[in-house]
Amino acid sequence: MSKNKIIIIGSGPAGCTAAIYAARANLNPVVITGMSEGGQLIQTPDIQNWPGETSISGYDLMEKMINHAKSLGAEFISDEIHEADLSNRPFTLKGDAGEYQADTLVIATGANPRYLGLESEEKFKGNGVSACATCDGFFFRNQPVAVIGGGNTALTEALYLADICSNVYLVHRRDEFRAEKAVIDRVQQKITEGKITPVYNAVVSDILGSDLQGVSGVRVKYKDGKEEEISVNGVFVAIGHIPNTGIFADQVQTDEGTIITGTDPKYRTSTSVPGVFAAGDCADSHYRQAITSAGTGCQSALDAEKFLQENN
Ligand code: FAD
Ligand code: NAP
Repeated sequence: MSKNKIIIIGSGPAGCTAAIYAARANLNPVVITGMSEGGQLIQTPDIQNWPGETSISGYDLMEKMINHAKSLGAEFISDEIHEADLSNRPFTLKGDAGEYQADTLVIATGANPRYLGLESEEKFKGNGVSACATCDGFFFRNQPVAVIGGGNTALTEALYLADICSNVYLVHRRDEFRAEKAVIDRVQQKITEGKITPVYNAVVSDILGSDLQGVSGVRVKYKDGKEEEISVNGVFVAIGHIPNTGIFADQVQTDEGTIITGTDPKYRTSTSVPGVFAAGDCADSHYRQAITSAGTGCQSALDAEKFLQENN
């Protein structure tokens, strides 16, 4: 088992940016990519808020970041870490493909979609229920679908599906969206065009269908107690994300799963374990943007570099 100066867990914007900075500091970074090389952004067809790119697909943006890091010498290993021992330096990680040791770690494991928790949702996952419109929208071409949620993800998913599906029911538990104004404006336009139908003040209480035919509809319950069934063939759940921090839970301090950073005032991205840094959505319950993740990814590599200078 070789010992590395720095291992970065995660290959989203935070992990890739950390890799770029660590490579330029001659730390020979190793990036463990996880199941989703490129992270959450690869799900989205159109990013319009990455500086320097008026419009770029998430896949293309992440491919550029990964190639950038690789061109500087960062090594990318396709593995998923399922066990971490942070009690001593060097830290030890166990993955499906191997074991790793490092003097410093950057945790950049991002977040995973949150689901409603309905039994029927579990039953139809992969057979009509999805959390990724770009991945699965194509299967519902010219068919009605529902998107659940009222944040940037739900609205972005609804916009994407509005161009593919016959109708998109946007089911939101309130009557006000929490997304960016520019995104809300685009959704309002689609509502006017009759491509998106908002279903306000409603929650999905059940997903209907059969094993053979998949999803045939959703039952929604309105705030005033009324219930209604809406016929759809696909359900896209977009109600937020849960930080991917389970494997570190009893070793680094978290707040409802989000890693607490800045515990050592010398290092903005420090965690409660000296030498372990965290960046991106796994340590941020507020901004959760590609650019803020990249920003803290940069900070984490600079922090790790300084830590190594001071502690080796
Ligand atoms: P992630 O992108 O979540 O990457 C996490 C990485 O960690 C992945 O590579 C994963 O494989 C890896 N990983 C996880 N667990 C393990 C493990 N145990 N072992 C090894 N590796 C592991 N933001 C914007 O700024 N603009 C947008 O237009 C935009 N659109 C979005 C559209 C959608 C549909 C979604 C879901 C999000 C969007 N976001 C957007 C938010 C943005 O994607 C996130 O803020 C950003 O990707 C977070 O980056 P990250 O590097 O922290 O984590
Ligand atoms: P989010 O902002 O947390 O929004 C989650 C939405 O789901 C909210 O509207 C919430 O309702 C609703 N919700 C939560 N739990 C629910 C439940 N159990 N039942 C029904 N509805 C529920 O999450 P997100 O939209 O995934 O966005 C995450 C982050 O990524 C944000 O920071 C966002 O800005 C970023 N992002 C950015 C872009 C972009 O810049 N274009 C695109 C996608 C994502 P309430 O509103 O009532 O709380």
